[in-house]
Amino acid sequence: AAAATAVEFDGTGRLADGHRVALLANVGGAADAVNAAAARAEGVGLFRTEFCFLDRADAPSVEEQTAAYRGVLAAFPGRKVVVRTLDAGSDKPLPFANADHEDNPALGVRGLRIARRRPQLLDDQLRALAWAAEAESAQVDVMAPMVATVEEAREFAERARAAGIERAGIMIETPSAALLAAELFEVVDFVSLGTNDLAQYTLAADRLLSDLGDLNDPWQPAVLRLIGIVGEAGRAAGKSVGVCGEAASDPALAPVLVGLGATSLSMTPRSLGRVAEALSVVSEEDCRRAAEAVLGARTVDEARAVARTGEAHAE
Ligand code: PEP
Ligand code: MG
Repeated sequence: AAAATAVEFDGTGRLADGHRVALLANVGGAADAVNAAAARAEGVGLFRTEFCFLDRADAPSVEEQTAAYRGVLAAFPGRKVVVRTLDAGSDKPLPFANADHEDNPALGVRGLRIARRRPQLLDDQLRALAWAAEAESAQVDVMAPMVATVEEAREFAERARAAGIERAGIMIETPSAALLAAELFEVVDFVSLGTNDLAQYTLAADRLLSDLGDLNDPWQPAVLRLIGIVGEAGRAAGKSVGVCGEAASDPALAPVLVGLGATSLSMTPRSLGRVAEALSVVSEEDCRRAAEAVLGARTVDEARAVARTGEAHAE
């Protein structure tokens, strides 16, 4: 039934006025990438590399990693592929990266926090990514997950560039990173908003608890305002702001995200058509108006309502 109602994507995301918004795919490996290319994604906005190694007891070698990454790059020749370094821990523990039990793994040593304690793990991955990019003549942007401070971002970007990566970025998925966006843009080339974790950490609501789904919602005004801070900082810096959390696949939210400053949206390939359709009927001005309206919303319901009408809520 889902397939029957799917809307086809023509391969170019744009607003009614022609303004381009790249519509990209989230993938976890080569098979996903082939599917995404078939769905005409313009590139990959989030390659979750940890998905390649979930069942591994030992760390994969540089050669094994290079082969896994080449499989994804090969599906998007000449296109942009944004690769995320290992986001191990929390809901995705990797046996070779997460050794110790943690009482609160979502707040624990996960993502880039592991890489800072295990530099070799990160350097091997960066080397494999640089090799894969060279072998496939691919445009590979590399970003780190779970960044909270400017020092973390600076150190990551330095290590990535030293390994031969041209463009180094970070995910914005903690409130700390969103609030520091302007300063983070001084040390990285791009950012991508991970709205799943950003909502979890902003509302202090575990994303795995369906019972907290009303809190864990990118339409929450606090989350929208943090996204707005990041979008503003991106505009001021002239750097790209992607969105790669579930929020990017919500057709009602897509124009709002663009108005808040998102320059690309990355999603599960089956959502590309519906999001493209929603964007194709609004202008950049409409998006800005919707964004401004949601920034004044007090509740999820208000945000949804004003995003539709583009009007500020009634006083
Ligand atoms: C996110 O947190 O929004 C994100 C895209 O990363 P993941 O879902 O893999 O944590
Ligand atoms: Mg995340």
